This record gives sequence, structure tokens and C-alpha cells, in this order.
Amino acid sequence: MKKTLYWMVLCVLALLLAACDKTPTVDPTHDDSIPAYAAGDKKGGITYQLLIYSFADSDGDRIGDFNGIRQHLDYLDGLGVSAIWLSPAHPADSYHGYDVVDYGALNPKYGSEADFKALIDAAHAKGIKIYMDYVLNHSGKGHPWFTEALADPSSPYRDYYFICTNPASEWSSYPMLKGYSYNNDEWHSATSGSPRLKVSSTSEAVTNGSATWNLWMWPQGHDGKAVRFVDDKDGTYHIVADLSGTTGVLVRKSMDWTAGSKFGAAQEDYNMTEGIPIDLVGDGGNIFFTGTGRYRFDLSNTVSQSVRYMGAFGSWMPDLNYGDVSKAEENACFQAIAATVDKWIGLGIDGLRLDAVKHICGGMWTFNNSSNVTLLRKWYDRCNASYRESHSEDFYMVAEAWMGASDVAQYYKALPALFEFDFWERLKWVLNEQTGCYFSKDILGYRKAYKAVNPKAIAATKLANHDETRTATVLGLNTARCKQAAAMLLTAEGEPYIYQGEELGYWGKDGDEGGRDELVRTPIVWDNASSAATADLGGHVDYTLVRDEISVANQQKDESSILHTYYDFTKARNTCPALAGGVMSRHPVYNETNTSEGKAIAAWYMTGSDGSKVLVVHNVGAAPKTITPGDSLGELVVSLGTCSLSGSSLTLGGNSSAVYYIK
Ligand code: CA
Ligand code: CA
Repeated sequence: MKKTLYWMVLCVLALLLAACDKTPTVDPTHDDSIPAYAAGDKKGGITYQLLIYSFADSDGDRIGDFNGIRQHLDYLDGLGVSAIWLSPAHPADSYHGYDVVDYGALNPKYGSEADFKALIDAAHAKGIKIYMDYVLNHSGKGHPWFTEALADPSSPYRDYYFICTNPASEWSSYPMLKGYSYNNDEWHSATSGSPRLKVSSTSEAVTNGSATWNLWMWPQGHDGKAVRFVDDKDGTYHIVADLSGTTGVLVRKSMDWTAGSKFGAAQEDYNMTEGIPIDLVGDGGNIFFTGTGRYRFDLSNTVSQSVRYMGAFGSWMPDLNYGDVSKAEENACFQAIAATVDKWIGLGIDGLRLDAVKHICGGMWTFNNSSNVTLLRKWYDRCNASYRESHSEDFYMVAEAWMGASDVAQYYKALPALFEFDFWERLKWVLNEQTGCYFSKDILGYRKAYKAVNPKAIAATKLANHDETRTATVLGLNTARCKQAAAMLLTAEGEPYIYQGEELGYWGKDGDEGGRDELVRTPIVWDNASSAATADLGGHVDYTLVRDEISVANQQKDESSILHTYYDFTKARNTCPALAGGVMSRHPVYNETNTSEGKAIAAWYMTGSDGSKVLVVHNVGAAPKTITPGDSLGELVVSLGTCSLSGSSLTLGGNSSAVYYIK
């Protein structure tokens, strides 16, 4: 009876849950000033750049995680984003994740594969794609490929890196470093080679060697004896001996007990397996082998070597070597990393953001763009082929080639999207100098260069990102300018990225400008500061930002907040066809030639694929401005600040913006 009741309760609960699942998405408590979208309605191509470690914590350890992101998808949906770029999700040596130690796994701090899958599925249900961050230039120093490559000079992983004895004379022999100029600071010292012991059964004759390298052997529970290795004269040694039951072994480099001569296992009482070599460490723990019969012990890697390896970003990030890029697809390292992408595609991801691509073929200061393009084209084709096995559209990929737009352009031979760093470089000048007249000419010039390479080139536009001083700091904490930066980002051609915290007006100086990188990676304060994901930032938290007063909850209630400017303009971008995926063109009056009367005005047209056209106009000056654009203006799409249309005259207040349909 009790059991039946139990099952009845379970069934009722299951039915209730099923009913909840089918509940329409209309939330009676929804604040109407925050946009709501049905899946597929977000046409504006807006992506949110999110730091997993500091976005949202779900389990109280104050480290952001996959479940935390999933629980805040409504927030991202309100911002109108159709994709999320996640900071590196792999296990890594540093909090930021850009020194990956396993591309095929997820950082356990962030949750399990099931949690990640749940995030992907929940995001997809809201029409939000998931992009993973991939680092192809380097791995973390702690990656097993690198430790193995250093430990064993004959390891196949040696070819995954640039490891040599004299880089000043040897670097030019690496095909990938063609076009790179040797820079001593980018090469780091290490010791390569550690003695390695392997045991296997044999029928060879028992040896009686004479090398000073010896094997200290003791049948369990008995005193031991030293047996000398036979010197094979090529840095390897061997012993053949008869064993009975469990035998303890330690390797010694001399016949006496000289300090530093003992080598054992990295852990105490290690049980060796036949055929599987073990890397020995100085003063290591006892090793045991169980077997009765005749066995051969092989000792290799007995000559340790001083080497140098390339790590352009520092000794903890050794650069990866893909060999001859013209056949990179045959390269083992390339294939190994690509195979991990297959796994994540299988789990449901929609694209990748590639880190630091200009440095791949080359180092920090000198590099070879054309080799990078060749390599990245092969990388894209490899990933896309995998994706296309289960999808009808192409895989998305955007890369960070941190250069001027004219240099970025060539990378469109390889990839569909690239960040346009010049967009923000120009825009910060425009806003701080209150000079808008040149802006559209500059942006159109960049786009012309991209489209000459690839007519479908996607310019990934942005304000500040996780490596840059925050937008609000660059703009002197001037709220009106911060709002206008958002308005200009969201009304220009391209696919805009919103970096975590920009929409909340976060400030902070990065490490290159006298601050710290952590200070531009501040956690989101959702409703109270005490739950913000601060724990992974090593104490480098700006508590003038992490406080309740400027929480998301408070900014959502305040319609004059920067967040609401983002709501207004993301909504406009997603719903107005001329803004969503529209093409930018020059205004005949307010342009680079109108440098006196129209100096403060940045204006352009956007034309949608449906033929609809809007006028976009921003007064970046502090003073109000009345202009006569000469267009037949119709309905107002969206505005910032104050604007009024009277006949053919349009008056915009200081730092005010407007988008009008053209009749
Ligand atoms: Ca957590
Ligand atoms: Ca490199």
C-alpha cells in the first residue's frame, strides 16, 4: 500500500513537471521595459562575451559555472543575444583558462559534461548559440603533451612544440617560424630527459653488467642487492634477471649511496606494469614489480639535456608547432586538437572563437600573416567538415587577429568572421574628441577591404573586451558617452559583441594601463554582492563595482540605466530589418567632408535585405545640434537622449542618437 502511494505521488509529480515544461513562456511578472523574444526572433546577430569564472555561480563556491550561466539565460535573452562566446572552458593552469592542459575535457570547477550539455540545450531552446574559445597558439605548461615532450627527447610530442638546444641557430629550421625574427625573451630554459625504466619478460641470458648505473633489487621482505646495468653505449642500459614474486626496485646512478644518485617513482610504492615505462624522478619512491620468471629492465633517457622552448606569451604558455602549414592537416598536433573540436560539436556547440591567431606562425612581435591564413583555412575547413556532417549550415568561427583593419582583411581568406579592433579604436576617439564626421568613412573603408577578400566577410564589432581597459574608463566615466558607444555599436553594420559588464557600465583599467587584467573581468552582481563569483580572481576584485547598488536587479528597475540603453538598441537591432544584418552606406551631406557645421555628427544609412532603409544619426558633441539631413524621414525606430523632428529639421541633444525609417 505504502509503495503504491509512493508511486502515485511520483506520477503526479511527473505530470506536474511535464505540465510546467509546456507552460507558455509568458511570465506575468515580466517587466515590460525588458525585451522578450521568441526563439529565432533575434535577427541582429548580437553575441555576448562571457567569462565563465565570473559570470554566475550556482553552487555557492563563488566560482562561476555552467549551471550559473544556464540559470541566467533569461537575462541574456533580454539583451537580445543570439550567441554566447564562453571564455575557455577547458582545464587550465590559470583562472582565465588561456593555458589549456586538456582540450578534450572541461574544467571541473565549471561543472560536468552533463552540465555543459544542459547549458547548450537550454541556450538552443532560446535561440542562443554557444561558441567555445580555442587557443591554437600555445598550450599550458602543464599540458601532458608538454611534460612528456620535455621528459623524453624521443617522445612524439616533442614535435608539438619548439624545443631545441640552441634556438638562436636552430629556430629558422622550423617551417612555422618563417617570417619570425628570433627574440631571446620568447625562449625559455628547461631540463629535458628523465631516466625511464621499463620491464618486460624475456628469454635472453641473465646479464652481469659493469655500468655504474645499477638497479637496487630486493625481494619483498629481504635485503637487497645492487645489480649493474649493461651499458648499451647510446644512453640506454639494460639488465636481465630472474625474479620471484614481488620485487622492489630503485635505480642508482652510482654504486655507493651518493646523495642525488637515487631515482624512483613520482609516488611512493608504485606498482610497475610489464611493458609500460615509468619516468623516474630524483629521490623518488619505491617501485614494485610482481612476476616470476626472467625479465629485462631497460633504462633510457639517462642523459639530461638543457633545452630551450618557445613561449611567446611567457614560459607558462609554450607555443604549439604544427610543422609545415601547407600540409597542416597531416600534422599530429593539428589533428589532436581538431579531434577535440569534433567532441564538442557532437555535444552541440555552434562555433569557435580563436585566440591570438596572428601569433600562431611566429611569436609576440613578429609573425607571418600568410602562413597563419594558410593554417587557419585548413583549421576552418577541418572543423566545418565535421560540423557539416550533422548540420546544413556552416560552422561559425571568429578570430582575434589584433591588428589594424587593413591587416585583418587577409584573414577573411580563412575565416568567416574577425574582430574589428579598429571599430573601437575609432569610436573612442570619436566620442572623446566629439568628432563624428569621419566615422562612417573609416568604417566603410575597413569593410571595403574585407569584402574585396570575401564578399560575405562578417565584421565582429565590439567596444572593450577582457584584455582592454573598460569602455566606461576610456570614456571618463561619462554615462552619456557610454550609452552612445552602445548605440553606435548596435546601429552599425557587422555582428556586435557585448562584453560581460559593458552593459552595466563597469569600469576598470587593464594590466597594460596600470591596472590589472582581473579588474576588467569583474563578476556580475545579480541581486546582491555577497553571491557574486569573485573566488577565482585571487582577491583582485574591485569592490566599488561589486556592490548591491549597481546590481543587475537595480539597473533593470532604473530605466535611465546604461542597461536600458542596451535593451532599447538591441531590441531595435533585432527587430528592424535595416539594422539587423543591414548594409552601411555613406550619407551625402553628413560625412567626412562636413567638418565644420557637421563635425559632431556621425551619420550613415543602413539598408536591409528587404530593401528597407534607415537613417542613423549620432550627435557626439555635448551641445544640441539641429541638422537638415535632406532625407524624407518616417517613423522613429529608436533614439537615445533627446531628438525632435520638425519638418526637414532634426534636432538632437548632446550625446543623442536617432534612427529613422526613410520613406
Ligand atoms: Ca560555482
Ligand atoms: Ca606561435
